[in-house]
Amino acid sequence: MQLVWFKRDLRSEDHQALATAAANGPVLPLYIVEPELWQQPDSSARHWGFVRECLQALDQSLRALGQPLWVIQGDAVEVLSQLHQRFGISALHSHMESGNRFTFERDLRVLALCKDKAIPWLEYRQHGVLRGLRQRENWAEQWERLMSKPLVHCPPLTGPGEGPFELDFECGTDLAHRQRGGAAQGWKLFDSFVSERGEHYRQTMGQPMQAGRSCSRLSPYLAFGAMSLREVTQRSRMITKTQYTAPSAWKSSMRSFDKRLHWHCHFIQKLESEPRMEFEALHRGMQALYPAEADPLRLQAWVAGQTGWPLIDACMRAVEHTGWLTFRMRAMVVSCASYLLNLPWQSTALPLARAFLDYEPGIHYSQMQMQSGTTGINANRMYNPVKQGFEKDPAGEFVKRWCPELEAVPKEWIHMPYKAPRSLQQKWGIKLGDDYPLPLIEPEQALREARHRLKQYRAMYDLGEEAKRVLKMHGSQLRQNRPNYNDSKAGLDQLDFDF
Ligand SMILES: Cc1cc2nc3c(=O)[nH]c(=O)nc-3n(C[C@H](O)[C@H](O)[C@H](O)COP(=O)(O)OP(=O)(O)OC[C@H]3O[C@@H](n4cnc5c(N)ncnc54)[C@H](O)[C@@H]3O)c2cc1C
Repeated sequence: MQLVWFKRDLRSEDHQALATAAANGPVLPLYIVEPELWQQPDSSARHWGFVRECLQALDQSLRALGQPLWVIQGDAVEVLSQLHQRFGISALHSHMESGNRFTFERDLRVLALCKDKAIPWLEYRQHGVLRGLRQRENWAEQWERLMSKPLVHCPPLTGPGEGPFELDFECGTDLAHRQRGGAAQGWKLFDSFVSERGEHYRQTMGQPMQAGRSCSRLSPYLAFGAMSLREVTQRSRMITKTQYTAPSAWKSSMRSFDKRLHWHCHFIQKLESEPRMEFEALHRGMQALYPAEADPLRLQAWVAGQTGWPLIDACMRAVEHTGWLTFRMRAMVVSCASYLLNLPWQSTALPLARAFLDYEPGIHYSQMQMQSGTTGINANRMYNPVKQGFEKDPAGEFVKRWCPELEAVPKEWIHMPYKAPRSLQQKWGIKLGDDYPLPLIEPEQALREARHRLKQYRAMYDLGEEAKRVLKMHGSQLRQNRPNYNDSKAGLDQLDFDF
């Protein structure tokens, strides 16, 4: 029996592990609901809710191919041992996973089992991520090669037939207004993105009110593998080539989208190459940039959207209620938490991991560190939340949507209501400190303190040699990913991208 172990690849199309297994004999397609995985501090009920829907959709597509999905709850090693005893597994097929410490250690235990039972474990690449990589030369070329390969189609399946389907797993309270799981949902979004929603993607992706519509919103489908990154890349390139040939908003939006599909793997590669970055600064010299413990009051206020900085509060409340935030706002909430509030990125990474429906450890930890200045190879980008507010949400629509207590504040004051004279506050009928918090600290003062801390830190340590190591191992070699003034003008500001 060929066993296909589904992990974060919950689809049947362009699934190398499934297609190869099917070519070799009867197949048992399996998903293991691992209680220990769902108890990790970066997991949440919304992730499980999304995965559950992906599993239902996957079961339907596997049934159509001839063999339903089996879903079994338990420890991976125990489940696989029992299935081996029952069926005799001739090979275990799965996609390579670049996950958190739990999945890394679980895979080591599975590997030991496979060695013990002489079961070959065949792991396939679904992303342009390479195992055991020490330097980035030619990385972009290998990514292109993998993404250009023909899609893999699965032949009809034979197998053991109907089996357990244990989806009744309690994981806490799910999110009512999140995106729904399953490949079909993802492809529907793809179609509307490339035909109508995406035209002004490039110009509006940084604006929180517009971005929810103009961005592709494919991230949770890519994170849990309900869609193949290769298929998305190939389809969007084909559409660009046939429909958006002349210079236009569409053409430049599709180019920006294509770049981001590349970044997806570029960032996951970092965690794959240095898994310790889940817990430690990528640049070892930056480990002590932040205090070991977070100030509990500041952390609590930031997580709850009660800092008194309206745009930050609106973003944190939005992500809690929807599971999504556009890139620029993610970068800003993290940068402000780290630099301005002096909160260690490890303490803010976990609440965000639980809140983002698209939580992808490789992208998440790389971005957390990049926005907190601990990679040592990216320029430090400190955001002023008031300035960002006037730039990205000039009418304060986004702030008012998520902080309704500020509804009566006019746009001139919406991003700094605490600066308005008392008489105006009275006129608006708002008592700051009661109805809406006073700022934890004034942003300008927080910025001054942050710059001073960073300057002092830099003066204390020689950071050059380690920065060279990080750059060699993790820096993008691709010219198009170097700082790009035009992109930054368009408001997406990966200006400091891997430099
Ligand atoms: C602190 C922080 C944490 C983040 N955590 C995650 C995460 O856990 N999971 C995640 O998928 N993205 C994460 N991102 C990256 C980015 O914000 C999201 O991928 C994007 O907002 C998802 O929306 P979308 O699918 O509409 O993206 P689009 O803009 O439509 O992009 C298409 C796809 O490209 C990829 N992508 C886009 N931007 C980036 C980027 N900057 N880096 C890497 N890949 C990118 C994603 O797979 C995305 O679905 C994080 C960014 C920051 C600053």
